[in-house]
Amino acid sequence: MPVDATKPYDPDNIFARILRGEIPCRKVYEDQHALAFHDINPQAPEHILVIPKGAYVSWDDFSANGSEAEIAGFVRAVGHVAREAGLLGSGYRLLANTGLDGHQEVPHLHVHIFGGRPLGPMLA
Ligand code: C5P
Repeated sequence: MPVDATKPYDPDNIFARILRGEIPCRKVYEDQHALAFHDINPQAPEHILVIPKGAYVSWDDFSANGSEAEIAGFVRAVGHVAREAGLLGSGYRLLANTGLDGHQEVPHLHVHIFGGRPLGPMLA
């Protein structure tokens, strides 16, 4: 079910629990600002999620309320993860579903990285 991204942050959402180490993930990368892990239900040969370590519901929340250091660190982490996954040559897609119409299911900002096959003009 999609979530209302205007609601306050839920500290018990599944990605918050992954960040606290209460739920396992297949970690790809971690630094002070970001954690990246393989999506549990991959939609492409490479499907990685990158999440900020701070408590941000959505892209809207993060872009409005994240610090300069958090935003810069997170953006760099997304690029680093895609590069390290070897996706730069063939290309890749970034996606941040936001709120109800965006069909965001987990209320902690996550950027999807898709790659490893031609993705077509758009993922609907
Ligand atoms: O962007 P959206 O919120 O719809 O996507 C949530 C994503 O989180 C899904 O692709 C789902 O497979 C993934 N997920 C995960 N590990 C979990 C729970 C959800 O990778 N434990």
